[in-house]
Amino acid sequence: MSIQDNIAAIRSHLPAQVQLVCVSKFHPEEAIREAYACGERVFGESHVQELCRKHDALPADIAWHFIGHLQTNKVKYIVPFVSLIHSVDSWRLLTEIDKQAGRTGRQVNCLLQMHIAQEESKFGMDETELREALERRGELAHVTLCGLMGMATFTDDEEQVRGEFRGLKRLFDAVKAGYFAQDDRFCVLSMGMSDDYRIAVEEGSTMVRIGTTIFGQRDYGTR
Ligand SMILES: *Cc1c(COP(=O)(O)O)cnc(C)c1O
Repeated sequence: MSIQDNIAAIRSHLPAQVQLVCVSKFHPEEAIREAYACGERVFGESHVQELCRKHDALPADIAWHFIGHLQTNKVKYIVPFVSLIHSVDSWRLLTEIDKQAGRTGRQVNCLLQMHIAQEESKFGMDETELREALERRGELAHVTLCGLMGMATFTDDEEQVRGEFRGLKRLFDAVKAGYFAQDDRFCVLSMGMSDDYRIAVEEGSTMVRIGTTIFGQRDYGTR
């Protein structure tokens, strides 16, 4: 199957209102150009250096999303052009994005990443950290909070994955009603990857992040 075939197959499973983010990390520029030729304009990367290099080399109308763990000292490199940061997992990171965005004269769109998986290794806030950040959101002048993101446990147990997505959707609805009822910009629920995006969509995802099913296995050796 070609990249074109893969994208067509995914599109056939996605409702029109669900945004596809093509996760191109570790894949070469040619692969991105191929997806671009199919009309895709939203690409996700998880390493700052790789994102900056691809942003410089590829068409200017691509909307670049950052989806990986972001270190505060690297925020300044992506803030000038990034269109959405999915992986904001601390108040400290949020304030650094705000500071750098102010310097650049931009408003930067962010999602708060929630820890919903059972694995220790996945990043994200717990509900206490989330509430603290939401209570202080008035201090942010250059960040727009657009929604929540989460990654389910890596498991074959569909019911567990479904339960985690359902919990995140419930939290999203509560946050929306409690803090952003009058703010249309808070409307993104980023959940679902290659192996679980169909479940995520059934549970209310508005944005899926898909890499392997579009581009094939990542080659971690040749970056
Ligand atoms: C790599 C990555 C994806 C894409 O994963 P696939 O299984 O290849 O679809 C999605 N979200 C995040 C946060 C990632 O790091």
